[in-house]
Amino acid sequence: MDFELTKEIKAIRKEARRFARKEVLTRIDEDVFKRDLVIKMGQLGFFGCAFPFQYGGSDLGFLAHSVVCEEISRADSGLRSLFNLQALTVAYTIMEWGTQQTKDRYVKDLVVAKQLGCTCFSEPNAGSDIASIETVIEDKGDHFLLNGAKTWISNGTVADIAIVYATFDGNLKHKGLCAVVVETNQPGWMTRETPKLGDKSSPIAEIHLKDVSAPKENLLGEWGGGFKVAMTALDRGRISVASGAVGLAQACIDCSVAYANNRVQFGKPIAEYQLIKGCIAEMVSLTEAARLLVRRGAWLNDQGRPFTREIGISKYFAGEAVVKVSGMAMEIHGGMGYSLELPVEKYYRDAKLYQIGEGTANIMRLLIADDALGIKKANRKRLHVHSEFQSLE
Ligand SMILES: Cc1cc2nc3c(=O)[nH]c(=O)nc-3n(C[C@H](O)[C@H](O)[C@H](O)COP(=O)(O)OP(=O)(O)OC[C@H]3O[C@@H](n4cnc5c(N)ncnc54)[C@H](O)[C@@H]3O)c2cc1C
Repeated sequence: MDFELTKEIKAIRKEARRFARKEVLTRIDEDVFKRDLVIKMGQLGFFGCAFPFQYGGSDLGFLAHSVVCEEISRADSGLRSLFNLQALTVAYTIMEWGTQQTKDRYVKDLVVAKQLGCTCFSEPNAGSDIASIETVIEDKGDHFLLNGAKTWISNGTVADIAIVYATFDGNLKHKGLCAVVVETNQPGWMTRETPKLGDKSSPIAEIHLKDVSAPKENLLGEWGGGFKVAMTALDRGRISVASGAVGLAQACIDCSVAYANNRVQFGKPIAEYQLIKGCIAEMVSLTEAARLLVRRGAWLNDQGRPFTREIGISKYFAGEAVVKVSGMAMEIHGGMGYSLELPVEKYYRDAKLYQIGEGTANIMRLLIADDALGIKKANRKRLHVHSEFQSLE
């Protein structure tokens, strides 16, 4: 086993860390979406690690993606979602499943952040159970027509391009799902921002689709094959999410160590008290364990090997870890943890998302337990070409 990062990955990590300190941390008080930062991240190649050169990427792989994502999340977890929306769940999904025309039209623009993306699974009546999606897709001969409603869509108010998951027959459940790329500059694409607890720099929307159209070549995978597209997209998305949780947990450690060393009570820094040391030890151990788990998942993907189980474990563990670690950071900061003067309260609010998005903690537990109990194997054959699709259950 080689735990050493390559010199190319270390170089992009250094660049991401520099950017995070200079450009992100200095504006952390602006709790809004910052398009200029997203564009800069695209130009600096942060979204392109897992993409080939022809699509504006650097071909460094998913491990590099994870490392960069962690650094950005360490500065602002809200920017972490961009690593899904500009890279894995949108651009990579189009690259993997799209027609040549679709790939050429959208992938590079997303990777370099010339256009912004979003991914639309969730609906008022379909959260964890995406097979019950109600948004309808109709084949109108020369184009597709979509009608329905989506909720909780990250980047929903700002995206130019969306992957919409919709059904052509709700009775067919997962076998009726289709994934299609939609351009959002249509009158029938109506968004409203959703206020929320944390991740304030990542806008979330409720979206209504009324006679929204998409060209036929924008179908991803096959007609009725949207569920499998969704599963591959979610697997990849979990790399970003778990990496973001690790970055945020690291931020909690950073500020807690500094605070514990400076805050004096009963005549000495609180860092000298064993109960505080216990907290720090647990925070560091949880974060390191989460980091190793997510890097293993990303590495497996880089090897072209199945990684659904491993990335599910890492997403679950990192989500639990960051919620605990942010709670301990609050504890170490005492009253100052509750103050708006320090970022600790923001970390505490941002952390909760990691137990929800890209498959809740319970859904990850089901995946892990079903695999362990032999009920449903998590790691299946990887889908590389469409023809393989038909042969899978
Ligand atoms: C900040 C944020 C950003 C998001 N961004 C996006 C996005 O960009 N695109 C998108 O499509 N969605 C997005 N989501 C939605 C997210 O994916 C869903 O919230 C998530 O999948 C859970 O769905 P739900 O909220 O409907 O909860 P539900 O599915 O209703 O679950 C409620 C509770 O029941 C549990 N539960 C459900 N089924 C089971 C079961 N079978 N066994 C045991 N427990 C179960 C869940 O674990 C959870 O604890 C976002 C959510 C948030 C909060």
